[in-house]
Parts: sequence; structure tokens; C-alpha cells
Amino acid sequence: MVAAIDPSRLIACPMCDLLHSARSAQDGERIRCARCRTVLESSRPKAIDRTLASAATNVILIIGALFFPFIKLEGAGSRQNATLVDALSAFGGGLTAPLVLVVAAFIVIIPLMRAGALCYTLWPLRFGRRPYRHAARAFRFANSLKPWSMAEIFIIGVVVALVKVAGMAEVSLGPAFWMLVAMVAVLVLENHNFCRWTIWRILGQDSTV
Ligand SMILES: [Zn+2]
Repeated sequence: MVAAIDPSRLIACPMCDLLHSARSAQDGERIRCARCRTVLESSRPKAIDRTLASAATNVILIIGALFFPFIKLEGAGSRQNATLVDALSAFGGGLTAPLVLVVAAFIVIIPLMRAGALCYTLWPLRFGRRPYRHAARAFRFANSLKPWSMAEIFIIGVVVALVKVAGMAEVSLGPAFWMLVAMVAVLVLENHNFCRWTIWRILGQDSTV
């Protein structure tokens, strides 16, 4: 006879949907999906520390990327520094104006809102305090924004554009470009360590998102 399985003790891998029976990770332990190795659960202090550190780093990098020079162009006797805002507003005007908003949303606004929502959710938990009001809603919001954060596609677009411009002017990349590259690297690390289920359990909710 097969024993009945309690559905509340099952956890689905967010990447491949394989079901596992849930258990708590010990200190320093990380439980991974048996099929695709995605992290399902990691010990509480590490899950919170890593995600909070990544989110705070991203807030700093995004704000820095807005104000430092993005690219420098030199040619025909003139030299120009362009910030990310200048690069974005280059799309502006006429029919392409909405594109400015869409690109700004994907590379600045959405990553910033997501990092902000994660910091809001995790900051009190880091110090063992009760979650702030609406923390569960903020965490659900952060998770729903994850697929829409697309700075890496923008960076690839910039590199392709630079290859084309390289013949006409001398182009060098400014600190803001490297800040966006660092942000993408931090996001990759965050995805690697991110443990939604652990955080939902700390928030006292079902892992429904
Ligand atoms: Zn999996």
C-alpha cells in the first residue's frame, strides 16, 4: 500500500517542475533539484544575506549607472561623454519616443523596483525582526518582476552598436557601462543563490509564487 503524500510537504522545482518532498536545510546546507540542480532551499541566514546583499548592490549599481559617463566618443576633433540617460533619450522623438520608456523600464525602473522590494522584504528579517507590513505582497511583486529585468539584452545591443560605430569614431566605455555589466553578473549570482521557498517560509506564507 502506498502512503498518502501530504501536498503541503511537496515542493516543485521552479525551473523544471520536478516534485520533491520538502525539508529544512541545515546550517550552511543548500538543497538542490535532483534533476536540474536549481537551489530549492538554503539555510535561512545565507538565503537572506545573499539575496539582500545582491539587491542592495544592484540599487547602488543602477543609481551609479545613471550618473556616471556611459560611453565616450572621440572623432573629427570633438569629444563627447554620454550618460545612460543621454543614450536612452537618443531614441526619443517622434514614433520612437515610447521606446525610451520601454528601454528605461527594462534596464532601470524594473530592476530598481525589484531590488527595492527585495530590500524592503528582507531587511527586518536579516535582523531577526518581524516582517514589515505588506512584506509578502512586496516579495510577490519582486518575483513577478524578475522576467522583465533585461539589462543584459541592452548591453548586448550596446556592444553590437559600438562595433558598427567603431570605424567612424574612437569609442571608449565609461564606468556606467561596467556598472550595468556588474549588475548583470550580480543578478546571475543572485539567481544562483536565490531561494524563494526559504523566504516564503520565513514570511509564514505558502510558496505559491
Ligand atoms: Zn529542477
